Amino acid sequence: MHCPFCDAEDTRVVDSRSAEGGSAIRRRRECEECGNRFTTYERRESALVVRKRNGSVQPFSAAKVLRGVSYAIADRPVPPGAVESLVRDVEILAQENGPEITSDQIGRWVLEGLRRIDRVAYLRFASVYKSFAGTREFQEELAALEEGE
Ligand SMILES: [Zn+2]
Repeated sequence: MHCPFCDAEDTRVVDSRSAEGGSAIRRRRECEECGNRFTTYERRESALVVRKRNGSVQPFSAAKVLRGVSYAIADRPVPPGAVESLVRDVEILAQENGPEITSDQIGRWVLEGLRRIDRVAYLRFASVYKSFAGTREFQEELAALEEGE
């Protein structure tokens, strides 16, 4: 752990104690170089999981969401950074709604984001989500697209 004051590499722990009701460990550290003290917290990584339609549970993966979206936006004129920003938004929503979310929820958040970015990508992604395809909302979007709106 580097010192935040002088960036020295060697800092030593002078005190460790349980914090946040036992879910974290608070450590006081002292820099061997400049003698300044600072505090670090060690926390469990939140185990955000995704329940799929078949009932299986997997760890949430932003990389997987990105891969799913990448397929939908292939060859589309999407502004740089738009997809990364969409995936970040989905990750934040997942954390807010966690620790367990469903793959359908993720699909809907992605759809909401894609709708603002690119309509064709939105429809491509929607076609993957069969629960959404066939709804009136989807049919209307499709009709509007075919009319060249
Ligand atoms: Zn230092």
